[in-house]
Amino acid sequence: MMIKKIADSEYVKRFAESFDGLSAVTGDMAQLAGAKVRRLTEEEGLAVLRDSMEREGAFFTVDGVLFAAGRSEYEADTAAEVVEKCIKAALRAETLGGAVYMDRADAEKLRADYIANYSAAENAFRQESETEASLRKALVDYGKKILETGLVRGTWGNLSVRLDEKYMLVTPSGMDYNRITPEHIVKVEIETLKYEGVFKPTSESPLHSAVYRTRADANAVIHTHSDYCTAFAVARKPLLITDSKLKAAAGDVADIGGPGLPGSKELTENTVRALGSNPGCIMANHGMLACGKDLEQALERCLAMEEAAKREVGE
Ligand code: 13P
Ligand code: ZN
Repeated sequence: MMIKKIADSEYVKRFAESFDGLSAVTGDMAQLAGAKVRRLTEEEGLAVLRDSMEREGAFFTVDGVLFAAGRSEYEADTAAEVVEKCIKAALRAETLGGAVYMDRADAEKLRADYIANYSAAENAFRQESETEASLRKALVDYGKKILETGLVRGTWGNLSVRLDEKYMLVTPSGMDYNRITPEHIVKVEIETLKYEGVFKPTSESPLHSAVYRTRADANAVIHTHSDYCTAFAVARKPLLITDSKLKAAAGDVADIGGPGLPGSKELTENTVRALGSNPGCIMANHGMLACGKDLEQALERCLAMEEAAKREVGE
């Protein structure tokens, strides 16, 4: 359950001074908040929302703070806006002879029907976009992290997450990690590499999609051009990880994949083969890649591989 709070509405404050509740005055209010929005203390009100949100979806306090609940952020925001609108309407109706309330049983029925049916599709959709929104933001944050930790320079390297069975979200191609915003992140179909929007997905999208197609355990992929892994890429040598802590993070070995030009089919095939079922691998004459159950784990693996490579070259 999500809660929206409106603390600065003059109308709600004014209403709360004279009224201890507002019975449903419109159908949308009844649907979103129930048959009555009561004046309660914050503590009482939150308990009511927790226990019986199915019946009562909103309340206001004596100080005129309005709280509304929803099954998604969108629904909670809408509920708060609609209740505030009805409070304004009720106050304005005072100058027109007073508000006429809805029948209580009708209002209760509207609420019950709404909870059961009305907004199910919209809420499912919003739920999905909230997940997508938070993953887009995570990609932006982790892009900055790979820059800050020195794993990439300039716009090189790229990151992705699996959104669902059908789509992955990837960083845009050739864009400064400090300038990327959630809107620049590209939604790409894993099977077909078709993408939406005007921003071009990373040129290594085939590689990211190949990892998602072959590794059910991978929900995030990070590809970097980090300094010490590059030494192994240039020497075309596998990286053996001996330190127990680093091993725990990145496995025993990061194999060396065969070469291929950036973005090419050869590079994708060779890299996925080298990755196998390991946490990461080295990409010949190119860099490295690690996958993980989430971005946090993928980054941890990149950093562990880089540290292991540093120790192996004796620095
Ligand atoms: P993109 O900017 O297209 O992601 O390419 C960077 C890179 O590392 C290619 O291998
Ligand atoms: Zn690269």
